[in-house]
Amino acid sequence: MTTKNILLLAGDGIGPEVMAEAGRVIQWFSGRGDVEFDTSEALVGGCCYDAHDVAVTDETVERAKAADAVILGAVGGPKWDGVDFSVRPEAGLLRLRKDLELFANLRPAICFEALADASSLKREIVEGLDIMIVRELTGGLYFGEPRGITDLGNGQRRGINTQIYDTFEIERVAEVAFDLARKRSKRVTSVEKRNVMESGLLWNEEVSRVHKQSYSDVELDHMLADNCGMQLVRNPKQFDVIVTDNMFGDMLSDVASMLTGSLGMLPSASLGAADKAGKRLALYEPVHGSAPDIAGQGVANPIATILSFGMALRYSFDMAAEADLLDKAVQTALAEGCRTADIAVAGDKVLSTSEMGSAIISQLEALSA
Ligand code: NAD
Repeated sequence: MTTKNILLLAGDGIGPEVMAEAGRVIQWFSGRGDVEFDTSEALVGGCCYDAHDVAVTDETVERAKAADAVILGAVGGPKWDGVDFSVRPEAGLLRLRKDLELFANLRPAICFEALADASSLKREIVEGLDIMIVRELTGGLYFGEPRGITDLGNGQRRGINTQIYDTFEIERVAEVAFDLARKRSKRVTSVEKRNVMESGLLWNEEVSRVHKQSYSDVELDHMLADNCGMQLVRNPKQFDVIVTDNMFGDMLSDVASMLTGSLGMLPSASLGAADKAGKRLALYEPVHGSAPDIAGQGVANPIATILSFGMALRYSFDMAAEADLLDKAVQTALAEGCRTADIAVAGDKVLSTSEMGSAIISQLEALSA
């Protein structure tokens, strides 16, 4: 029996509520095969600020680095709106991403059959959709220097951000995308704006080089970012893996998320570089925030957090069969009509957060019986 250490950072708002259900699912899987999950908890976000005056402590960052995987609920809320930027709840999450060097953000957009009518697009456009957006997370426009707002002294001000990418940054995220594609339908679409941006031209050339050198078994297409936005709503099923920079990935992954219905359904993974033994630092979290409007009511949808653990099974623990089982359990629970309020329509029986957790565990029991 091997033991995997998982650090649970529930955070604020609905974070603890959805994390409790993910915790039950983790316990269900623990010790079932030859892997045992040892979970521990720490504070991040507003709750950490309240206790320690910072959004994440040095000790927690070290524990996150030492863990086999980190699962985070959500951070933030109106209570901390007036707090200085450097210690705001979101700063805790940004520090974790930065200190763990989590450069590849994976956001699957999967349309569950039972929820196809919840999408803003027609059923036939989204039914069966299963795409993966790989967004570069630690470089590009959101981090490039120079940046800032300067006063030009003539009644005008100037806002500056710099889009900047070096070869190694493009190379490592392209490798993640190609490796993923090999486990899927072996197709990658690389997205940039090489027609107007030199950084886009470099992106295009470096992705092509990595492809030619090491991944010629994978099909590679290039697409301009504006066209990709259009194609995602016109015909999203044409894509398998999309790889793109930080800013375009931010926008395109939000577009893709709406294809699938509710924010409460969407998991994500942020991965760092693999060490010599193949282990990557990794943080898994739902795409949604702390939902202060429904926090404390026991009505939040825990599926995004549960599926985030599913991504940990797949990408950190190499347990694809168990990840498939969990996906199937969620699918079956939905197909049998289990709905939290965010995915319910008139006439549905609405489940609480813990009832949805129980429904998924019942399906796990049934499917593995
Ligand atoms: P949000 O994602 O928290 O909520 C948006 C809407 O979706 C709300 O109506 C909410 O009730 C609903 N919703 C979200 N998750 C749900 C779930 N699991 N089940 C049912 N309904 C759900 O976004 P927001 O309202 O813009 O932000 C609230 C706070 O969360 C802010 O402080 C923001 O900074 C923070 N935030 C944190 C993260 C993160 O931790 N990664 C991400 C986004 C926003």
